[in-house]
Amino acid sequence: MRNSDFWLTVTKAMLATLDLEQLLYILLSGSTAGDGLNFNRAFLFLVSEDGRKLRGKLAIGPPSQEDAHRIWEDMESRRFDLPLLMARYASFHKDPEAFGLTRMAEEMVMGIPLSGKSKCEHLMRRTLREQSALCNDTPIPLFDTDIVLFNVAMVSLQVEHQTVGLLVVDNAFNRRRVSMQEINILATVANLAAIGIERARLHQRIRSLAETDSLTGLLNRHAFDLQASTCFQKAISAQRPISLLVMDIDHFKEFNDKRGHLVGDEILRQVGRLMREIFDEDSLLARFGGDETVALLPGIDLSQALEQAEQLRAQVSMIPLGFSGEQQVSLSIGACIQTEEHTSFHNMFQDADRALYEAKSDGRNCVRTTPAIG
Ligand code: GH3
Ligand code: MG
Repeated sequence: MRNSDFWLTVTKAMLATLDLEQLLYILLSGSTAGDGLNFNRAFLFLVSEDGRKLRGKLAIGPPSQEDAHRIWEDMESRRFDLPLLMARYASFHKDPEAFGLTRMAEEMVMGIPLSGKSKCEHLMRRTLREQSALCNDTPIPLFDTDIVLFNVAMVSLQVEHQTVGLLVVDNAFNRRRVSMQEINILATVANLAAIGIERARLHQRIRSLAETDSLTGLLNRHAFDLQASTCFQKAISAQRPISLLVMDIDHFKEFNDKRGHLVGDEILRQVGRLMREIFDEDSLLARFGGDETVALLPGIDLSQALEQAEQLRAQVSMIPLGFSGEQQVSLSIGACIQTEEHTSFHNMFQDADRALYEAKSDGRNCVRTTPAIG
């Protein structure tokens, strides 16, 4: 691949993806590939969205420098192919050795403005001020890690006069000095990457607004409906258990009527918070409508689901209402685990809903399951 073709390929790939990590991976593998700038290592730091922190996000270096080289050789032989690059990215993620440097980078978090006295922070400050900096022939420890940079270039990633990140590259292994011309190419590519980063972040923000119930912070029903069947099928294919809880606040209307909708809203918020605290990160938690919420729990069997349901029920009954001597909040919960009879998520939902109905008719503030146990 000719050098100009190479950079066209890199920038096209960066602007074709809305996945932030993929984009950064393309930038770093482009900076370390033989056809590109052929740097030995590359580290990417991102400025947090509130502008207060600079965080290590991704790093590529030996043994993955070779990996980067292979990627671009492959792309040359098969012409530019983004899916191919993404497949490489997926294997990079799973390779503990290649990903080791990234894990170290992720530990690096600095407050902005940078105030440290180390050589590294001094160079970073200059980069943030002047957009790029270069330091040849001097070893520069990367903060308090064991990594020592040598023959280093740094460029900031800027979009509309705002810095979104910082790219650090070095030649610690072949000890090749960095030239001004390389810095100029790097700065151009970095600024194109910055546009891609802004787009990816905006996309993520819009997506999360469209999927989230603003009161509880849980998924909204639309997002839950889109994701539930896939989550259900995945668990079945992997032969993992999957459980479902359907929950409804008891006599919620009375709280609204007696205490006003703002108190009602606060109760809903607290229920959402407790659900996020109690259930695993990979569960699908949603507000289904009104005062009804659902939790689809992959990898969780019935006894674990009942235990978590009971924990939630108990904690909801302790939500402080700010006034004494009054009725406490309580929750009725219907639970169900996927069995052979549940050929679709819809079947399973019907059973959990039936269990919720039983919990309500058994006096509320309790957990019931379908089929009933004991
Ligand atoms: P039950 O024990 O049978 O569930 O009785 P309930 O009073 O909770 O009855 P139901 O579940 O039918 O009542 C739901 C109420 O939730 C009715 C509606 O006014 C209230 N609601 C729905 N959405 C909101 C909301 O966003 N905020 C507030 N404060 N109330 C809401
Ligand atoms: Mg209710």
